[in-house]
Amino acid sequence: MEIKKNDTFTVQIEDMNEDGAGIGKLDGFIWFIKDAVCGDRVEAKAIKLKKTYGYARLMRILVPSENRVKPACPAARQCGGCQLQAMRYEAQLAFKERKVQNSLVRIGGLDGGVLPFELIIGMENPWRYRNKAQFPFGQGKDGGIIAGFYAGRTHTIIEQEDCLLGVEENQTILTLIREHMKKTGIRPYDEETHQGLIRHVLIRKGFRTGELMVCLVINGRSIPGAGELVDALRKLEGMTSISLNVNREKTNVIMGRELVNLWGPGCISDYIGRIRYRISPLSFYQVNPVQTEKLYALALEYAGLTGKETVWDLYCGIGTISLFLAERARFVYGVEIVPEAVKDARENARLNGIKNVEFFEGKAEEILPAQYEKNQIRADVIVVDPPRKGCDVACLDTILKMSPQRVVYVSCDPATLARDLRVLCDGGYEVKRVRCVDMFAWSVHVETIVLLSKGEVDSKKIRVEFSLEDMDMSEFQDGATYPQIKEYVLEHTGLKVSNLYISQIKRKCGIEVGKNYNLPKAEDSRQPQCPPEKEKAIREAFKYFGMI
Ligand code: SAH
Repeated sequence: MEIKKNDTFTVQIEDMNEDGAGIGKLDGFIWFIKDAVCGDRVEAKAIKLKKTYGYARLMRILVPSENRVKPACPAARQCGGCQLQAMRYEAQLAFKERKVQNSLVRIGGLDGGVLPFELIIGMENPWRYRNKAQFPFGQGKDGGIIAGFYAGRTHTIIEQEDCLLGVEENQTILTLIREHMKKTGIRPYDEETHQGLIRHVLIRKGFRTGELMVCLVINGRSIPGAGELVDALRKLEGMTSISLNVNREKTNVIMGRELVNLWGPGCISDYIGRIRYRISPLSFYQVNPVQTEKLYALALEYAGLTGKETVWDLYCGIGTISLFLAERARFVYGVEIVPEAVKDARENARLNGIKNVEFFEGKAEEILPAQYEKNQIRADVIVVDPPRKGCDVACLDTILKMSPQRVVYVSCDPATLARDLRVLCDGGYEVKRVRCVDMFAWSVHVETIVLLSKGEVDSKKIRVEFSLEDMDMSEFQDGATYPQIKEYVLEHTGLKVSNLYISQIKRKCGIEVGKNYNLPKAEDSRQPQCPPEKEKAIREAFKYFGMI
């Protein structure tokens, strides 16, 4: 039976993709069905058909999976945040572990049979765990002001002020802000017209200190009746910092660079373990403090410190991991790109009386090589905790040259983790321990920590086979390797793309392609041209890997 658009059909969900969509197969054709859980038998409606795969909308659950639960949040299906709300928590943990394992094997080419996985660390209470929320403001259908979350992959705001992952104070704060807007006639920002003032409201809470921060992201430099708003917000227990963030750009980046302080010290503080951290609105701070403590304890354990070691903590944010490690190391150097975060990091060291640390402001891929060339720095242990795009090749290259005993890799993206582990393993390191920590219950995201140490490899062999200078790293410098792009495209669209097509689209996007890589041999040589459908898929992958 051939299924056409808008047809309804029945299918068994046999698997799930990394975005949490259910996967079902009918006559060799693959269906991706959002909100369906592995094990469900469902009725679905075809909404988009491609050659070998299609997308369908979940209409009815005929037989529920044993792992299906009723989503606790009424907005779960529309909202983009929780892709796994219909899945039992234990099943989510298994899903996440498998996702990481698949990446390490398929993208990193590591041997799945011997990967030293330790049991994922789940959450004791998977609700209200987030210490940070960013609510977009907009206009509802009836013209009223609404705050909430973006619907998955769109910029449509779903009205939802009490997200069950966030703290209860969020709703009270949003209500006060909405009331103030009504009273003073302040309009929410409209992306289409670039008019209106309030874009987002950032709320943070220190779980151990109870301190609250409110930062209004505005399309302007001040807000009418700021004093009154401050007075209203100040009354809330724990309120510590109220500020404005100026963002007048036509962009979907939430925060601008400039802060205007309205009330309080401009930051809040919180504890992880025994260490107190000062957190300002622009600094990165882990969103799940309870699990963060477990993650950092693990980082400390993996680092294997005795008190004699020189440690580098790359992508250090406000110095969270650095200060944790400093208590057990001889000296820790941190590197971070955001100036405010570096300021926080230095202040945090001072606040806690920790003297054996130093922080560098700049890109890890520039600071580390420069320090290595100029000052012949060395390291016993290097910890990296990069953003989703992973480590830059210049950074990995320098780590290999510095040759620390141990590398501890903390990652929030299994695909780029796998890519980087491949480089480190090719450079003579061995994966000794791997463990996932769930910091983001109900979503598909997962944190992974990996311990690498120098393998028992013949050093001559390393030099011959793994000199990075001799390798063609051009494709790598562009953000992701050809196999990674292929893997990503296949996983997300079911399409197979060739190196030739990838290099064609790279050129189109102005990304440098390795010398002579797939260049036509002669002007008149005829090469197959990448079809538009595949071009779109490749471009999506480039976007994912931060290449465009
Ligand atoms: N280790 C910290 C922060 C991890 S998040 C913690 O656990 O809290 C990643 C951090 O890397 C962010 O603070 C981000 O600002 C920083 N960053 C992003 N790109 C960077 C680069 N190229 N060099 C150094 N730091 C970078």
